[in-house]
Amino acid sequence: MTREERQVRKLAREVRRRVAAAVEAQLREARGLAARGARAKPFALSESTRAGNLRWRRAHPEGSRAHKQVYAAVRAGRIPRPDRCEGCGLEKRLHGHHEDYAKPLQVRWLCGSCHRLAHSALCDGTAQRRETLAVRTASRGEGV
Ligand SMILES: [Zn+2]
Ligand SMILES: [Zn+2]
Repeated sequence: MTREERQVRKLAREVRRRVAAAVEAQLREARGLAARGARAKPFALSESTRAGNLRWRRAHPEGSRAHKQVYAAVRAGRIPRPDRCEGCGLEKRLHGHHEDYAKPLQVRWLCGSCHRLAHSALCDGTAQRRETLAVRTASRGEGV
């Protein structure tokens, strides 16, 4: 074996060792994140939001299923996801809201506050809240 060959082999060993170490470090980090229940996303949801989401999913398995179907359909490009809230017309991060979980792909795209409003209207059914939502929905498109 020439001197160069020996050097090349040594270098290759070193590279393999470093790659293995880097992969191992990444795996360790991913496992650590998973163990803490954290998401490897930069905009991870807060603890309380995640806990709330989890409680909601456990209490509403049919809703959870419907949401999964919606987001899968959006990713697959089968249903469009608008940029603006159907309630207030603002460009915000939107939630797919179901009026009926039996129709999982029929959603209204609402921002957080309109979504909360929609649910409180559905839950307590007070006429005033329903009206508020109807007004918001009607004012959509007027740049409000
Ligand atoms: Zn809204
Ligand atoms: Zn909803």
